[in-house]
Amino acid sequence: MATMTGKRDYYEVLGVSRSAAPQEIADAYRQVALKCHPDKNPGDEKAVEKFKEASEAFEVLNDKEKRSAYDRFGHAGLDRAGYAPQFHDLDDILAQFGSLFGDLFGGASRRSRRGADIACETTITLKEAASGVAKVVEFDRHTTCGACHGAGTAPGTKPEPCDYCGGQGQVVQSAGFFRMQTACPACRGAGTIIRAPCQRCRGAGLTLEHVKREVSIPKGVDDGNHLRLEGEGEPGPGGRTRGDCHVVIRVQKHPLFERDGMHLVCEVPITYPQAALGATIQVPTLEGPHELTIPRGTQPGEVFRLKGRGMPSLRGRGRGDVLVQVTIEVPKKLSSGEEESLRQLAELEKKHVSPKRKSFIERLKDLFSPDDKPHSDA
Ligand SMILES: [Zn+2]
Ligand SMILES: [Zn+2]
Repeated sequence: MATMTGKRDYYEVLGVSRSAAPQEIADAYRQVALKCHPDKNPGDEKAVEKFKEASEAFEVLNDKEKRSAYDRFGHAGLDRAGYAPQFHDLDDILAQFGSLFGDLFGGASRRSRRGADIACETTITLKEAASGVAKVVEFDRHTTCGACHGAGTAPGTKPEPCDYCGGQGQVVQSAGFFRMQTACPACRGAGTIIRAPCQRCRGAGLTLEHVKREVSIPKGVDDGNHLRLEGEGEPGPGGRTRGDCHVVIRVQKHPLFERDGMHLVCEVPITYPQAALGATIQVPTLEGPHELTIPRGTQPGEVFRLKGRGMPSLRGRGRGDVLVQVTIEVPKKLSSGEEESLRQLAELEKKHVSPKRKSFIERLKDLFSPDDKPHSDA
């Protein structure tokens, strides 16, 4: 169907029906673009015209609003709605559809249009983990080369079609009955070769940049937690949609506290008299020292709980506890006065055997027959 503007019908150009689904339209455009791409038909004006025509058709039919205007009033409808295709220059089309062509020719999935994710690390103290903290993180990532604007070519030059594969990007290898199509080894599947690479990026089109970002670390984070900086990763094909940067949080080991989820476990040494008689001792919390009264007869390893003095919850409200585990310290050196007192205590204990020791001695007796002698290596 020819129109008054002399343009062919867009559906006819792509060879699809008027009810074609978006995927069908994209597939049809891929077929035409693959056949007529200027990189694959160097010097062929007819192919270039076909390519431009198909690109224009795709530009309209791939856009819901433009397609609907075109469906109702044809080419005139597009003009009236101000949707007239903006670019007729080949370079414009290639630039506009640059990332799309990456998909069309590489057959890459939609997901890989996004750039790669990267990671960096930041170390905070346990106290900062409890209160939340703002930190500046630094990382390196690639960015479009400022000298060649990502083209990878030296100023005033363009990529040339690859001689090895004739610009196809693919070569056919035969082995016996098998014919295999593989990426061209000379151009790595690009179909083009950069003969005069950009000096700054050496043809890569990308340069490294050092980035600093302030991140707000929420209270309650634990060692190894990640924060995601959306769109701060590597650029996707054509310098588009960046991946993410993951900030890995490292929480420094605290000299006194071991973390157990939301709880903080702390070992506190006490003396034998404190354990036996009971005492008020000072124990640490993140906010400072706290007084804890331990009862008479406290046993080694016993745990006392300071409710709500632990780590805050990462999701929502509430705090964990501080768990104080007491250990009983046996002195390595004694003053003569201490020694005298302990000897007196030992004499007393011989006469008044404690319940635990009594049952232990009895179990020991059951275990060995009276004939058993203490074992010796001699
Ligand atoms: Zn460059
Ligand atoms: Zn090649």
